[in-house]
Amino acid sequence: MSPKSGFKHDKYKNTRGGYSRWLLIACEKCKVPVCLYQKDGPGILKRLYLDRVIAPVKLCGLQKNALKKIEKLVCSHCSFLLGVPIIYEKENRLAWRLFAGAVEKKIVKANEMEDIKEDFEALESSKFIESIAKSRFSGKTLSLEEVQKIYRHK
Ligand SMILES: [Zn+2]
Repeated sequence: MSPKSGFKHDKYKNTRGGYSRWLLIACEKCKVPVCLYQKDGPGILKRLYLDRVIAPVKLCGLQKNALKKIEKLVCSHCSFLLGVPIIYEKENRLAWRLFAGAVEKKIVKANEMEDIKEDFEALESSKFIESIAKSRFSGKTLSLEEVQKIYRHK
């Protein structure tokens, strides 16, 4: 049982033991998801390397920019400041240094990836229903009734 993993394999991953997980990163304050992220190796999450962000699209591919072009990482929902852009000197690699306790994280399984990417697309196209994404993060499943209630109130 080894589905194509879709993880990025490179020197950074190899330096960290050669294994990875996907994490859904959410704002600690309002619990709304911030990004989908490939975490390489063990240890606590202190930085988000820009080349490891998978969603949303607006946060992807930013590693090609100069440091001064990178904005602070802010929750798109409640504007809570989550991290500041840095260059991780050891690898000359762009990252956001996270403030302690600013984000929550949840391990994402391969079969959940597509749904979560869709959530982020919806978020970007402003069809996003906050409560549904929150429930995805907390692992709770909303009933059809609850979902309809949320739509009706929009
Ligand atoms: Zn927030």
